[in-house]
Amino acid sequence: MGRTVTFRVINNRMRFRCSACGFRRNTPVQANMRRKNIRCYKCGAITKCMLNRRALPRELQSGKVVMITNEGKEMDVNLYDVSMDGIGFDIPIRAARARTVTVGQEVRFRCSWNPRLLGNARFVVKNNNGQRIGAKKIV
Ligand SMILES: [Zn+2]
Repeated sequence: MGRTVTFRVINNRMRFRCSACGFRRNTPVQANMRRKNIRCYKCGAITKCMLNRRALPRELQSGKVVMITNEGKEMDVNLYDVSMDGIGFDIPIRAARARTVTVGQEVRFRCSWNPRLLGNARFVVKNNNGQRIGAKKIV
């Protein structure tokens, strides 16, 4: 049996990578599962998987935050992804229909449950797929 490998779990799915041959596949995992042995479809080797549900160590990074536009308008949005240079979030369906958020728009955020997470950073909206918005940090 191969060594133990840690995988990130997001929304109860993980991107499994075989420790023997490197073959990758997406696989669902049960909600409370912490460890799982997964057999590779390709070579048959078993990889011992540790399941890490924290997207970033010790940083909670999804939940409700307040988006603030340049005009000072505030909107509750649902943050789902934070990386070094950008964020992803969902806006309410009404705001999406009204096209309230547009590509090129500058926004910032207020995050009551982790003020350090976004701080005073400013972002520019890069893509807009209905309710799902991607924004890049302005440096
Ligand atoms: Zn394999």
